[in-house]
Amino acid sequence: MKTSSFYIVPLPTEIADAARRAVNAGAADHALITVDTPGSAPCRHCLRWAQPGERVILFPYAAVPSGQPYSETGPIFVHANECERYSATNEYPADFCNGRVFRAYDSKYNIIDAEIVDGSEPEVVIKSLFQNPDTAFVDVRSVTRGCFTFRVQRG
Ligand SMILES: [Zn+2]
Repeated sequence: MKTSSFYIVPLPTEIADAARRAVNAGAADHALITVDTPGSAPCRHCLRWAQPGERVILFPYAAVPSGQPYSETGPIFVHANECERYSATNEYPADFCNGRVFRAYDSKYNIIDAEIVDGSEPEVVIKSLFQNPDTAFVDVRSVTRGCFTFRVQRG
């Protein structure tokens, strides 16, 4: 579904490329993993599930920067090989319609609301969270593991 009321913010390419350099340099907090289970490793850059046999990098990412009460750093995956950054930014990525929690934040990075999305229309939930004028952005995370998937900004 196309919409102009919000837009999707995939992980910046600079961060994916920095993770690729770090794993090549042997950084202890960057793990190179070959995916063996479908639907287990979402790439935050192309916003697709990595396929079995593809290699991904697992590394910590500060979705909410330090210095805030809700500061949060957690593990994310990106493809180890170059991939195309998700570009359909006015369409909710089809791979993540299930098993997500949407957290609404205000402009000072405080969590002000949260909704679980599992099979319901994610666009409807996002629009309802943005009906609160205090909602500055919505972070989409795994409902089971809590990992940051991508950000949604007000359109
Ligand atoms: Zn990717």
